[in-house]
Amino acid sequence: MKVSAFGLTDVGRRRESNEDDFLLEPGRGVYAVADGMGGHAAGEIASRLAIETLREVLQRNETSAKPMNAEDAAEWLRGAVVEANRRICDSIRLHEERRGMGTTVVALVHSGKDAVVGHVGDSRMYLLRGGELARLTSDHSWVNEQVKLGLMNDDTAQRHPMRNIVTRALGSRPDVLVDLTSLQIEPGDVFLLCSDGLNTMLADEQIHALVLAHHHDPEAACRALVDETNRHGGDDNVTVVVGCVAEIA
Ligand code: CA
Repeated sequence: MKVSAFGLTDVGRRRESNEDDFLLEPGRGVYAVADGMGGHAAGEIASRLAIETLREVLQRNETSAKPMNAEDAAEWLRGAVVEANRRICDSIRLHEERRGMGTTVVALVHSGKDAVVGHVGDSRMYLLRGGELARLTSDHSWVNEQVKLGLMNDDTAQRHPMRNIVTRALGSRPDVLVDLTSLQIEPGDVFLLCSDGLNTMLADEQIHALVLAHHHDPEAACRALVDETNRHGGDDNVTVVVGCVAEIA
């Protein structure tokens, strides 16, 4: 299953530093986005620790050469995120000034058609298939809890002043619950991983139109998404990873 992929991160129009990070390993079938929080240096450290840990665990795994099935991929991803959480918590214990830092993470791992998406926090994965865009992750955020309880609709949630409050993140507790969903990827699929800097500035319909317009070209899709986000104000750092699954496997 051949995937062509691209990733792009941008500071946006209002922030001075970029606390987002991403991982792009098409050869190994691993993609991730992390959105750090906790102010300036600390947020950058948290997201970098998360991404570095995924990369390290991935390299360690390669010594065992057997190809991963869906179950292995899910266990691998859960283990990598748990380890990232432990490292961030350790770092906070050792450095008083890092107290309060944390990060989200969303990752897609696949071996052939078998794929698993895992996430903690409000970074998202979308999938374009057959012209339709679906959101495959459910934000761990205060506003999404209100949406799920039927107390708020998506539009209100997107504009709500408390939309940045995440209810689950790496770095906040010694144990972390990772939401995992398995799926089969198909030729022609386009997946998008993003930080909330994208989807707080653009509605899903706008994201859909841009991904659809560039569904053969991940770099063009990333550039269009980041440009449009910044045109709408660029209030936050924005990170996108787009992967196009080749039509002919
Ligand atoms: Ca953010």
